Amino acid sequence: SEGKLAGKVALITGSSSGIGQGIAIRMAKDGADIVVNYSGHIEGAQETQQEIEALGRKAFIVRADVSKVAECQSLVQAGWDQFGKIDILVNNAGVEKGSDFVDVTEADYDLVLDVNLKGPFFTTQAFVKRVLAAKIPGRVINISSVHEDMVFPHFASYCASKGGIRMLMRDLAVELGPKNITVNNIAPGAIITPINKKLLDDKAKLDPLLANIPLGRMGSIDDVSALAAFLASDEAAYVTGSTYFVDGGLMRNYHEQ
Ligand code: NAD
Repeated sequence: SEGKLAGKVALITGSSSGIGQGIAIRMAKDGADIVVNYSGHIEGAQETQQEIEALGRKAFIVRADVSKVAECQSLVQAGWDQFGKIDILVNNAGVEKGSDFVDVTEADYDLVLDVNLKGPFFTTQAFVKRVLAAKIPGRVINISSVHEDMVFPHFASYCASKGGIRMLMRDLAVELGPKNITVNNIAPGAIITPINKKLLDDKAKLDPLLANIPLGRMGSIDDVSALAAFLASDEAAYVTGSTYFVDGGLMRNYHEQ
């Protein structure tokens, strides 16, 4: 196929919805075959698969709950066995739970940290083991958030998970650089996806947010997936160890309170 990801295979966690689905379809447009992952209902994953196949690429659906280490490992194994390799891993699956700090339960904390940090940690480990054994280059892209760096009161566990993935990315970029594996984060600002449904329906919360975004709008899924496709491409071969913000300028306009 033609395109900047021709001949590549990409695994995208949580690609049954939102940003992950958009990245899967965009990478297929650029020529990649895709391992589609979901954990709950298969319908979203099937929708992603149909769009990829309509583009003439291959899509292989694997159910895995990335909060379970054994499922992170079986996800990588199933995708690798299907396509014979995986070049690109996108750790996208994520959840958020908002509440006052004093009301956070152990169950809520575990869910957010396990999906958002432990999942990427061990999915990347399984991916890297395979890449090293196959002696091929590797690309890891984590979908973090502006909240890897910017406070979000009442979302303490979310901030802890995204701050953690910021340091995980930096550490792995240095440890794995000599093995020709690049590791980068994409930090979206406010993007229109199902995770933000409550916000989108609440004008009293939405208007002040929009007032703080220099470009004056929320981001689209395409705004994020274009950067993911670039970071996965050969053109980004020398890019590693950094976070790329896709936030309409929100981070620059933000003042610590
Ligand atoms: P979304 O809710 O549409 O997508 C989240 C995806 O993660 C879904 O496909 C869901 O099935 C999957 N997922 C959840 N738990 C999982 C598990 N245990 N195992 C496997 N998959 C699981 O929301 P989204 O906005 O597309 O979020 C994608 C990523 O982008 C998340 O990491 C989120 O934190 C991050 N992000 C989103 C925004 C935004 O404004 N939408 C901003 C910053 C960061």
